[in-house]
Amino acid sequence: MIKDNLIAVKNNIETACKKRQPDMTEKIKLIAVTKNHTVEEMQQAIDADAKFIGENRIQEAMEKYPTLNRNVEWHLIGHLQTNKVKQAVKIFDFIESVDSIKVAEAINKEANKIDKVQNILVQVNLVKEQSKNGIYLEDLPSLLQDIDTLSSIKLCGLMFIAPNVDDLEEVRPMFKKMYKLFREVQQMQFTAAEIKYLSMGMTHDYQIAIEEGANVVRVGTAIFGPRQY
Ligand SMILES: *Cc1c(COP(=O)(O)O)cnc(C)c1O
Repeated sequence: MIKDNLIAVKNNIETACKKRQPDMTEKIKLIAVTKNHTVEEMQQAIDADAKFIGENRIQEAMEKYPTLNRNVEWHLIGHLQTNKVKQAVKIFDFIESVDSIKVAEAINKEANKIDKVQNILVQVNLVKEQSKNGIYLEDLPSLLQDIDTLSSIKLCGLMFIAPNVDDLEEVRPMFKKMYKLFREVQQMQFTAAEIKYLSMGMTHDYQIAIEEGANVVRVGTAIFGPRQY
């Protein structure tokens, strides 16, 4: 079941890739979002060749991490509070949800302590949704420059969560805007940062996100079914 779902999602990704511009052929990272799913379900996905795991909560990730095959890349996609940074840095290969210099500095400090360079993405709140985290556009350039000075952090790109709307064509222009922003940020002068990843698209909108330029998508429900809370 999980295996079949994973294959279906990968096929959809391939179809979406074909609709992209010719210069957009790089590989897509499919993050299997495993929040509220069991370690057994996660293991099934990993056995079916899932390479990237996405978790939202530190506590849940800490419980699952020790029992799972480590040969996967762990992505934190949920909001990170400074008091959880120490644990997050221990587990996650990528922290996708950085949206303030305060959190970035805390990550830098904890990563430095364990001789790690922590990969991060900066979460953008493109349309100023009150209910969402993420940095506003006007504050983005200075945050990126400030993060670039932190020696135990590697800034690798941007993350975006689209508003949940019924008409999916409403989110397409936002994905377009995010891709344009991503290209602009790639042109900025950095010391250490390498802007490679644009993470956007979930179960209901990942195909559109890829068509518009995402190279990381975070998919839960389409792989594991609905979450039980
Ligand atoms: C839960 C979650 C996802 C996956 O959502 P689905 O709709 O189940 O694919 C993706 N990104 C973030 C940030 C999430 O919190």
